[in-house]
Amino acid sequence: MVEQKTGTVVHKKLVSETLMRFRLMPEPDNRFPDYDEGQYIALRRDDCKLTRKTGVAPDGKPVYEPDLDPWGRQTIGSVTHSYSVASAPAETAEHGWLEFFVALEYGVHGLPGRLSEALFGMSKETSCEVTYHDRITGNFTLSARAEDAKSVLFIGTGTGVAPFVSMVKELHARGDGGDDRRYTLLHTNRTAPELGYHDTLFEIEAAGRFDFMYVPTVSRPSEHAAVDKRIGQGRASNVLRHIFDLPTTEEENQTSAGGDVARTAANIALERLVHPVLPSHLSPTAIRDRVDPAASVLLTCGNPVSTADIRSTAARRQIRFEMEEW
Ligand SMILES: Cc1cc2nc3c(=O)[nH]c(=O)nc-3n(C[C@H](O)[C@H](O)[C@H](O)COP(=O)(O)OP(=O)(O)OC[C@H]3O[C@@H](n4cnc5c(N)ncnc54)[C@H](O)[C@@H]3O)c2cc1C
Repeated sequence: MVEQKTGTVVHKKLVSETLMRFRLMPEPDNRFPDYDEGQYIALRRDDCKLTRKTGVAPDGKPVYEPDLDPWGRQTIGSVTHSYSVASAPAETAEHGWLEFFVALEYGVHGLPGRLSEALFGMSKETSCEVTYHDRITGNFTLSARAEDAKSVLFIGTGTGVAPFVSMVKELHARGDGGDDRRYTLLHTNRTAPELGYHDTLFEIEAAGRFDFMYVPTVSRPSEHAAVDKRIGQGRASNVLRHIFDLPTTEEENQTSAGGDVARTAANIALERLVHPVLPSHLSPTAIRDRVDPAASVLLTCGNPVSTADIRSTAARRQIRFEMEEW
């Protein structure tokens, strides 16, 4: 049985209404266990609004509804989930905290996620305490997944960038010219502010302490927002296809659609497509040249739909594929 301890959130920053970064200090007179970049820890709050399974939807997925007490109030209790550590071990050694990048989950039926809602609700009034398992674990690490590779392509979508932020920050902290691998991070979120870590990642790239290329894109570019030309456009899966000279998923679906209904759906998807565009200073060749399929590994974490498409591109271009399952 893993020991449970109670830490305190010392820094909480809303990146958007549904995205948050926070730092957790360990229980007083304790330190967090040593960890490797890419690992995760289990967190718990005891003030979560509970749900219960009420049936199964036509698509076979379980349906959850608020769990109500006899007076019609939603029951409150504990929920524990795993979260990837977004801080680097070097930062934890220096400051003591762990950092996390968390999304406010909304289920298929519009119910807020039990634990993520409680984490977003943390305040002095509701308490900033978070219980944690005193163990940081997982094998989504460079030593376990990227051994022997000369080039590592990270693809992080949404909060799935967290393990890569930890890895990149740690490589920067250790950067002493001794690591001759090439690291490339393709990082996508809906909007530029939601990338969450782009300022730090641009700074690390500019510092040049190891061979690192940062390729951020947004999947919902706004014509009204100021355009940062260092940030490209399109979903990570389509940007990857663009880099490797493949049509987008939507274009491919349109070509293969059989029957009127499928063709109409494919046409609508194609009309709505945000075409992949790389940051203005980069070309597909510049990135492709860094990722020789025979000597590279692609590590991805995040949105499961994107991940499935990224896996298929990796297979088509014969690049070794590794993913973190959330
Ligand atoms: C290794 C790992 C690392 C992760 N890292 C991160 C991270 O860095 N950042 C991040 O944001 N997330 C991360 N996650 C996801 C995270 O663990 C949670 O799953 C997520 O925050 C949603 O939790 P929730 O309690 O808010 O949602 P839940 O309430 O658990 O809802 C999520 C889904 O669970 C189902 N559900 C609802 N009620 C119940 C119930 N009573 N019983 C069972 N299922 C139910 C529904 O299908 C719902 O859509 C990670 C997951 C793993 C496995």
